[in-house]
Amino acid sequence: MTIAIVGGGLAAATAATELREKGYDGDVVIYSAEDHLPYERPPLSKDVLLGAKQVDDARVHDEDWYAENRVRLERGVKVISIDPAAHTLRTEPVGGGESTEHDYEKLLLATGAEPRHFDVADRVADPVYLRTVEDNARLLAALKPGAHILIVGAGWIGLEVAAAARHHGAEVTVYEVADLPLVTVLGPEIARLFADLHRHHGVDLRLGTSVDEAALAAADTVVVGIGAIPSTELAERAGLAVDHGILVDETLRTSDPDIYAIGDVASQQHPVLGRRIRVEHWDTAIEQGKVAAHNLVGGDEQYTHLPYFFTDQYDLGMEYFGSVGPDGYDHVDIEGDTDIAHGGAFRAYWVKDGTVRAAMHANDWDSSDAVRDSVGTSR
Ligand code: FAD
Repeated sequence: MTIAIVGGGLAAATAATELREKGYDGDVVIYSAEDHLPYERPPLSKDVLLGAKQVDDARVHDEDWYAENRVRLERGVKVISIDPAAHTLRTEPVGGGESTEHDYEKLLLATGAEPRHFDVADRVADPVYLRTVEDNARLLAALKPGAHILIVGAGWIGLEVAAAARHHGAEVTVYEVADLPLVTVLGPEIARLFADLHRHHGVDLRLGTSVDEAALAAADTVVVGIGAIPSTELAERAGLAVDHGILVDETLRTSDPDIYAIGDVASQQHPVLGRRIRVEHWDTAIEQGKVAAHNLVGGDEQYTHLPYFFTDQYDLGMEYFGSVGPDGYDHVDIEGDTDIAHGGAFRAYWVKDGTVRAAMHANDWDSSDAVRDSVGTSR
């Protein structure tokens, strides 16, 4: 039996790894549009952008692993169509060339997401959208002392880039239309702390304002970090159910019984949260990869893991567990020293109807497990 995996990111590589670790002996093939060994993206805006690590350090496995584990990795190959009824897919080399048809018994879609474009910046500035190792190399080369880096969007990637740019001695301006950075995820109480952190490190943070063409054109380098769009086109054309993500059930199965979807592209009916959620985090790519591998070979496991993410900015490290949800929170309880610009360490708990919906810590690694375990408990 052949299990075909579309996409060569962390979710795809983890699923292939798990298939072999759990003893699956059939054929496994990964079709990857990128011409690289599967790699992790978080270091692209952190250690690799700081110059502290190399891109190769971010690989999921070295090249030998794929041969030793009989995982056929087709690099620089794009899947251009799927025929679910015939159980076939068609591939094409990314640079162009003959397309080829392949059979599969089970298919895993791990096509990820792509940066949302900002047309004004595209028109005047040739901006960097940080997603791939090529984007990282281009940006790293631009982070020079005194260079003016203009960042559009104060989300996770925008703020991590701001921290790396300051590390290299660049002048940084960040434009954000919301009144605070990260406010939709963290709420104003904690978002405010991130604004202080970046201003403390010399970032010119312009909140509640959009950037104009003149400012974009004047910067040495423009970086746009305004979110990502799930890469659903292939699934849509194959007739799978899609709605801002490939729709999957509790077991990560799509509307076709022989096709699963995981990672940034999957919108899952989450059995614990009781609602649909699409999570663009490193940990979800890994954990969903493991569950999907089990289910591709006959399992019926539900994916119950709650969202988790981390970030590193300057000397700050934080972890966040859970998900507040569309109906928000009643209050946030904060314990500890919130002066993160001066090394403060704290814990925060977002509470709705007396239950912790989400919790985080900043610089308090010893509390990590307790903070994680608080999600879902009464408070
Ligand atoms: P992807 O990594 O997007 O991989 C999908 C792959 O599929 C791509 O290589 C794409 O080219 C390929 N593909 C798409 N369509 C096709 C096709 N038709 N045929 C063949 N191949 C195809 N998360 C955190 O939790 N913490 C962090 O600190 C953090 N930092 C990040 C920093 C950056 C700069 C970025 C970009 C992301 C960061 N993330 C972070 C998010 C995390 O990296 C993603 O959640 C994760 O990469 C998702 O993995 P994936 O395999 O689902 O998708």
